[in-house]
Amino acid sequence: MLTQEKIKTINKQIESFNSDPNNLPEDKIPVNIEEKIKKNNIELNKYCFDLGDDILGEIKKENGKFIINIQARDHYYRKRFTMGHELAHFIKHKELIGDGVDDGKVGNKLYRTMYRKNDKITSKEEVEANRYSAELLIPNELANFIYESFFKDIKKEDSLDIDINFLEFLSKKFQVSTAVVSFRIKNLIKQS
Ligand SMILES: [Zn+2]
Repeated sequence: MLTQEKIKTINKQIESFNSDPNNLPEDKIPVNIEEKIKKNNIELNKYCFDLGDDILGEIKKENGKFIINIQARDHYYRKRFTMGHELAHFIKHKELIGDGVDDGKVGNKLYRTMYRKNDKITSKEEVEANRYSAELLIPNELANFIYESFFKDIKKEDSLDIDINFLEFLSKKFQVSTAVVSFRIKNLIKQS
């Protein structure tokens, strides 16, 4: 299928997803991640200048209230993924957060605790948080549609080769990096 046709197909699907009354306003594409954080009564600072250069974001508890701080210098799309990642720690690992979790980038690994030495948050939790964030920003219904329509013949995630125009379209549509789009599709290939 030509890229133009693929784009038309996805646009139609997103339109119907966005007009589905069963979906909350904040679930509409692009997902309003800020609103989801606020709904959990978490304070959000998207422009934190106090984090070290290698820190992407953190979640911590201060005076009984959870706060998510996001690296001010990052591109908005990366911030969105970090927001989803920190929200995942709150939803899935609340009991493990302790003094806080700071997430940085080390080599190829997307996120891991850096300075706080929070040894309760291990790579298992980090993988969970990355997956949760990707699933939040590209909801299952649409990810499955994309997979079924265009990628279901691919057997191994390593052989995924998305044409750049289509990849960039998806990245802009969901407001995530192209890396997150690939990560999401690769996970679906792995699961199939
Ligand atoms: Zn993390």
